[in-house]
Amino acid sequence: MKGKLFILSGPSGVGKGTVRESILSDKEVNLTYSISYTTRAPRNGEINGVHYFFVSREYFENAIKNDELLEYAVFVDNYYGTPKKAIDDLLNQGKNVLLEIEVQGAKQVMKKCPEAITIFMVPPSFEELEKRIRGRRSEPEDIVQQRLSKAKVEMQLQKNYKYVVVNDTIENASKAIIDIIKGVNKN
Ligand code: 5GP
Repeated sequence: MKGKLFILSGPSGVGKGTVRESILSDKEVNLTYSISYTTRAPRNGEINGVHYFFVSREYFENAIKNDELLEYAVFVDNYYGTPKKAIDDLLNQGKNVLLEIEVQGAKQVMKKCPEAITIFMVPPSFEELEKRIRGRRSEPEDIVQQRLSKAKVEMQLQKNYKYVVVNDTIENASKAIIDIIKGVNKN
């Protein structure tokens, strides 16, 4: 049986990455993460081939030209995209696949794969989101400002998603998403 495709979106800094790691460590959900391509520079501690495939603009633009991406988007001046073949292979092996992607890319996947299960993660408040983005201390002020204004726009698009999960604590948000995945797997 083919695996199921899950899309997780939410504004930058909401904690998708941390929650994602917590979900992936739950063996019962049989979930595999799709590693994206990006042209942005690695943050401290990020590893090529684990967190992202960090590629050049030229490499990314070739991947677009050769139709190798299921979706892609420009986010704060960098490209981000999902490799198509890797996803198809995983789904055909019966694995459930999680895409952690921003809203423009998610829209493209919803169109191509209407059966995808869509989840949007929100912060408990906008003030909390700002605190989390600043707490990362890895980006200059202009990038922080761009991520914050982008977050305001992204928050309005939660209505396009089937499930909305509040990330008040990692434990609560992970549990809510695991419950969604387990519920879907039963059907
Ligand atoms: P960050 O730079 O914080 O790692 O990611 C910025 C945004 O890009 C996040 O919202 C993240 O979910 C999103 N993102 C990561 N990978 C992809 C991808 O393959 N496609 C799209 N459309 N967005 C992605």
